[in-house]
Amino acid sequence: METVFSKIIEGTIPSKKVFENERILAFYDIEPAAPVHVLIIPKKFIASMNDVTPEDLPLIAEIHSVAQQIAAELGIADSGYRLINNCGPDSGQAVPHLHYHLLGGAKLGALTGNSASHA
Ligand code: AMP
Repeated sequence: METVFSKIIEGTIPSKKVFENERILAFYDIEPAAPVHVLIIPKKFIASMNDVTPEDLPLIAEIHSVAQQIAAELGIADSGYRLINNCGPDSGQAVPHLHYHLLGGAKLGALTGNSASHA
């Protein structure tokens, strides 16, 4: 499926890259929600977390490893950070290509904008 992220992967839309290998690309979010806001994506098309298969799990593990590496390189490993995946409409997922937001560089706000309830 063609999305803004597939165009970033193929290079037809520019991005400020932080990390790249054969399987994974990381680049700065165009609308940063924190002083450090990097998106980490698989180059393989996976629409959302709902579409991750058991075969994809090594790739997901590698994304965590890449997140750890980027956090260290950008100086937020010790101060702390969030790694967030939005999946589906209620999460606000806007781009249907699996991605993880790496956020840090300041005290981050509440985890969600809504009041939570387990009722
Ligand atoms: P989500 O709401 O989880 O789907 O997040 C999508 C993210 O992609 C948003 O934070 C956008 O700011 C970001 N985004 C959209 N287009 C671009 C782009 N061309 N370069 C970098 N980030 C982008």
